Amino acid sequence: MGKLALHWQILAGMLLGAAIGLTLNVTVSESTSEVPRENLPAGIRQVVLHDSSNLITIDVTSDDETTQRLVVDATRREPNSVATLAELAAGHAREYRWFQHHGRSWSRWFGDNAQRLGGLFLRMLRMVAVPLIVTSLVTGVMGLGHAERLGKMFGRTLAYYVATSLLAITTGLLMVNLIQPGLRGHAHKPTDPEGQTDVDLGEVLFTQVETMIPANPIGALADGNFLSIICFSVAFAIFALIVGGKTADLIRDFVGAAFEVMMAMTMAIIKLAPLGVFFLMVFVTATQGVEVFKSLGLYMVTVTCALAFHALVTLPLILKLVAGRNPLEFAKAMSPALLTAFSSASSNGTLPLTLASVEERAGVSNRVSSFVLPLGATINMDGTALYEAVAVLFIAQLYHGENLPLTDQIIVAVTALLASIGAAGIPHAGLVMMVIILQAVKLPVDMQAIIIGVDRVLDMCRTSVNVWSDSCGCAVIARLEAHGGKAPPPTTEPSMEL
Ligand code: ASP
Repeated sequence: MGKLALHWQILAGMLLGAAIGLTLNVTVSESTSEVPRENLPAGIRQVVLHDSSNLITIDVTSDDETTQRLVVDATRREPNSVATLAELAAGHAREYRWFQHHGRSWSRWFGDNAQRLGGLFLRMLRMVAVPLIVTSLVTGVMGLGHAERLGKMFGRTLAYYVATSLLAITTGLLMVNLIQPGLRGHAHKPTDPEGQTDVDLGEVLFTQVETMIPANPIGALADGNFLSIICFSVAFAIFALIVGGKTADLIRDFVGAAFEVMMAMTMAIIKLAPLGVFFLMVFVTATQGVEVFKSLGLYMVTVTCALAFHALVTLPLILKLVAGRNPLEFAKAMSPALLTAFSSASSNGTLPLTLASVEERAGVSNRVSSFVLPLGATINMDGTALYEAVAVLFIAQLYHGENLPLTDQIIVAVTALLASIGAAGIPHAGLVMMVIILQAVKLPVDMQAIIIGVDRVLDMCRTSVNVWSDSCGCAVIARLEAHGGKAPPPTTEPSMEL
């Protein structure tokens, strides 16, 4: 892969991974097997395991000839089924172990191992994330010179986050009202729509505020709690400036040097992105069944169309008009981060690559990126906000057989914005936060089960949009900072290496 530019290498890794994974899925994803007799405990006569990418069944026959069937069915068409293997593991650990050891198809076996190998790449990114954020933030804030400039930048950054998230939500709402996927599809309601898990929006937001004041900063570092780390690092840098003199110089030099080292490490890890992305794509495509996509096709089309509009029209327009950057060039510079976000479905995990790409490939200054990106990975999630709005309206269409009234749609919009702020930048976080919105418009939380099967794929798409919006935010804030708040005329692009 020597001479090929990095973004082409990553794209090639992604496509090759998808091609291999899909081939495995089509050819060797079906298998039937039994747990060897010597491994069965007393009282159980036979365990038959059937694996296909859409449906897993485990038949456990006791000595008295009664058979209990466990079903994992992402489409939830089978009665009393669970939607994912993780749910099976939580409720039936023994049967899950049998399946893992004796029941997996070749396709799932390859997929699971590819996930472990791709996981090594993600671990490397996690390894550099915390020291990179801390050193980058302290260097960036100290580089600003004084706290007043930080306050201004904070205001602009928040304004950008809220404006783009609201634009994303509006796009999602328009699209779901237009296409109406829940009024045409035939996905069905779960058997028990009564069970409600209580999540209080006020509680979630107040917890975020509490998290901003870490009682134990070292603990926050150890836990990788981004919001706590950001707040403590910013406070530390501000007070270093206030103390000033030799102390400030010492800290600036030391942290600046550590930042350089962390950046070099990240740039080295970036080179492994094609391989990491390859394995992650093999995992996703080898283990996902197509059946579930068929039943939720229109819903997926709605989400992806809305995400595509936001990513390909709204954000590029902002990038062009406010930041004066060429969207295509900027996207090319950001491609290692965007493609890694797609295959890993985690904005937190991608953050080191986002930082490195914005600074080294797109030429945005560390002062801006060190502040806008870590904060953005935690609280600016355009893709997630949009997705939440579409998913809740889709569920409402299925449940009520009609669109939600406008007042309820406004409640959805506001809560989707807040839920996206509360969501962590990790896979499936948006799904957890959706409970808040469902409760706000009095929809049964269990209806979520309908969309769980396709969440991974949609998560990949919305995470790329989350990272794309953070990156565009960097360019926008950098331009506003450079011109005291007014959008300037476009200039030429900075050089892009790598
Ligand atoms: N996976 C998303 C992210 O990391 C969050 C979500 O589930 O929507 O940005």
